Amino acid sequence: MDLYEYQARDLFSAHDVPVLQGIVATNPEQAKQAAEKINSDLFVVKAQVKTGGRGKAGGVKLAKSPAEVAEKAEEILGLDIKGHTVKTIMVAEGADIAEEYYFSILLDRTKRRYLAMCSKEGGVEIETLAAEQPEKLVRKNFSPLSGLTNDIARDIAKEAGFSDEETEQLVPVFRKLYEVYEQEDAQLVEVNPLVKTDDGRIIALDGKVSLDDNALFRHGDHANLEDVEAADPLERRAKELDLNYVKLDGSVGVIGNGAGLVMSTLDVTAYAGEEFGSKPKPANFLDIGGGANAKVMANGLEVIFSDEQVKSVFVNVFGGITACDEVANGIVQANKILADQGIQAKPMVVRLDGNNAELGRKILSEADLAHVEQASTMDEAARRAAELADQA
Ligand code: GDP
Ligand code: MN
Repeated sequence: MDLYEYQARDLFSAHDVPVLQGIVATNPEQAKQAAEKINSDLFVVKAQVKTGGRGKAGGVKLAKSPAEVAEKAEEILGLDIKGHTVKTIMVAEGADIAEEYYFSILLDRTKRRYLAMCSKEGGVEIETLAAEQPEKLVRKNFSPLSGLTNDIARDIAKEAGFSDEETEQLVPVFRKLYEVYEQEDAQLVEVNPLVKTDDGRIIALDGKVSLDDNALFRHGDHANLEDVEAADPLERRAKELDLNYVKLDGSVGVIGNGAGLVMSTLDVTAYAGEEFGSKPKPANFLDIGGGANAKVMANGLEVIFSDEQVKSVFVNVFGGITACDEVANGIVQANKILADQGIQAKPMVVRLDGNNAELGRKILSEADLAHVEQASTMDEAARRAAELADQA
């Protein structure tokens, strides 16, 4: 889950990372009141959208008085920044910037380590810096077991070219940012720019934090960080039903058991779709996991059937601990549950393989559901599901 800048700022503040005061607003009048509370002679009005490059897009503006803050708020609210409409802004105390730096911590999966990155050249897009001046970007892997120690933090600052004095100032800030990363179960903590002000203070001026959704259960207080309104309604419903679902853009609904199988089902489905005029593609990712019982199957089908883009559904199950006969019974009962709820069914192609596949197929054949077909291989099933979507 990616956070808004103001939410990142709040987390930073809670961990004593130096930040400036900031208050959110959704209209110019609120923005003006926020500025009056902040009591400064320089303000910055910042679009709160989950994308970078707000500055360049006109989403970050300086103002010298509460009245000017209201004017800038008027200009920024409603702006479209890379497809995100600005509905909220943050009014913050403005900083007199002397220098802009870059600092981030992220998970380096290939190295099974954390990775800290730092540069004296902040404020610019990090991808650009990494591509054009890679020597100016210090990258340091470190172990989650040791964490970001004083020694490692000091090495990073020195390698980036900071003076001894600056290094001593930066080390505690890096360490606090690591505290945010570790204690909040983040996957990314990025500060761009981390600034030195004219009067020599170090301040995190912009924050980007991405939290690990798999660790949300450890943080009761993170639930309210979620942007329920902005989420896709189908994804929201899937989440309520505790399903592993990601909405995609195509017309073939996909259900499988096991993330790996579902991923390859998406590939096979997209490939099969190439053959047909409308080039049907997968409509979603949905992994119903090991325990594919009737309730879980019904929940999965409910979400997929509610997707208006879906024209056909491909159920791809490889029986393991949950055998195919249980899955088949699950499908039959799920269809009854949904029919009782008045949810309109869509054509389905089911491929059962693995443990008790034969029994599972028999159960499905005998149930004789009008909208359910079976196929014996994954390729065949994908092709048929794509064909049904194409004909619809
Ligand atoms: P981004 O463009 O989405 O990364 O938004 P940032 O929050 O990083 O702001 C972009 C740029 O605006 C920064 O790199 C700064 O140069 C400038 N900026 C942001 N806040 C302030 C501020 O308080 N004072 C001054 N002088 N400039 C600021
Ligand atoms: Mn930035």
